[in-house]
Amino acid sequence: MYVRNVARGDVLRRAIGVGLAALSGCGVALNTRDADGPRSTLSLTALDLTAEATYFEATPNDSFESAESVDIASAPSAIEGRVEIGGDVDVYDLGPVSIGERVMVTMDSDPALFGAIALFDADGTALLVNDHRNAYLGRTEPFIDVIALYDSSSCYVAVTSTPGFASSGDYTLVAAKQSGAAPPSPRPDTVLLVFSGGANVRIGGRPAIHVPPFDAASISPDYSGQTRRMMGEVVQRVRDDYAAYEVTILSTSEGTTYESGMSRVFFGTYDPALLGVAEGVDEFNATRDQEAVVFTDTFDAFMKLSPTVDQMSQALANVTSHEIGHLLGMVHTADSIGLMDVTASLRELMRDQVFARSPIYSAVFPLGHQDAPQYLLDTIGGDPSLVTPFFVLANKRALKVFDENDLAPARAVMPLSTCALP
Ligand SMILES: [Zn+2]
Repeated sequence: MYVRNVARGDVLRRAIGVGLAALSGCGVALNTRDADGPRSTLSLTALDLTAEATYFEATPNDSFESAESVDIASAPSAIEGRVEIGGDVDVYDLGPVSIGERVMVTMDSDPALFGAIALFDADGTALLVNDHRNAYLGRTEPFIDVIALYDSSSCYVAVTSTPGFASSGDYTLVAAKQSGAAPPSPRPDTVLLVFSGGANVRIGGRPAIHVPPFDAASISPDYSGQTRRMMGEVVQRVRDDYAAYEVTILSTSEGTTYESGMSRVFFGTYDPALLGVAEGVDEFNATRDQEAVVFTDTFDAFMKLSPTVDQMSQALANVTSHEIGHLLGMVHTADSIGLMDVTASLRELMRDQVFARSPIYSAVFPLGHQDAPQYLLDTIGGDPSLVTPFFVLANKRALKVFDENDLAPARAVMPLSTCALP
């Protein structure tokens, strides 16, 4: 592949100073660096990168296999390229990255390009997929500032037009590595499942809602008298999903009350289009004490499939674990056995979903995978020996193929999305 590396003598010197602020999901959240180490994506000091060499895009470069090599081992490099209209993705290989190494990429582009950038390891697993924009500076260009949590023989940066925006234009990236830091320590979390209702529950920028105490009969009269059993089933199944990880699941149904530092998931009320909503994608679990809602009354959409109490509890638990997944920093995937999936039919949602390595949903980023177990072990902490074994995933995938002949109602037919981020 042809890469033009401008000699250091006629270097394009480019300093992009960036005061960093982040959008988390769509709710604006100002993350800070914690005492236990830098938390990806955000410092409150300016990121000044001065490139010593410039690379120019050489196509094709739209996959990890065809990625263009860019050397940032000893000094930052600039990359000049263009995102064309119609789903163009440009991929660059920034070389190996070691645990504790900080990878930074800034982007400067034509105003017409509403760009998104993401960072991946050698296997195409996302290290960071949410782009960040310096909203407080009124800038639309995304940036990356991540501490690697494990070694990887390659580190790819990919550039595209933000999914959902058909934009195009020229861009300049400046990419740099900085070694030496210890990786941040894992950040365990505690989540309280709130079945006892809540007043003025406000998720991101959405209007505050009143959540009444959970009553299984408000999903359907068929479940009358099953409230206690259903709560117990949901709590147990969500605990199972997080058993391998340092996420403590507590519940008001067991007498636990809210204390500061707990995240909360409320169960109740109705939304015309949503099964659940979370405050945002809290990357690297930077913020505790966040909220999500599982709109239990919306689950009456499942009643045409005549779910048992167990099946309904499973659907509720899947959506609950998914919303907690956002609060721990994970994005949407396309893989109906995976908990962060948004493509499952309602019938598939009544099956036990698990944390899996899954393709990233195309509306999030058009390339790469999210490895939920790896992410949770690295970021939250946990016991690798308790992670769902490969053969269980394989069985679930085999069952899914079988189920595709089962005329499961597609979610597109049921005008519901499983989730929204405000
Ligand atoms: Zn979601």
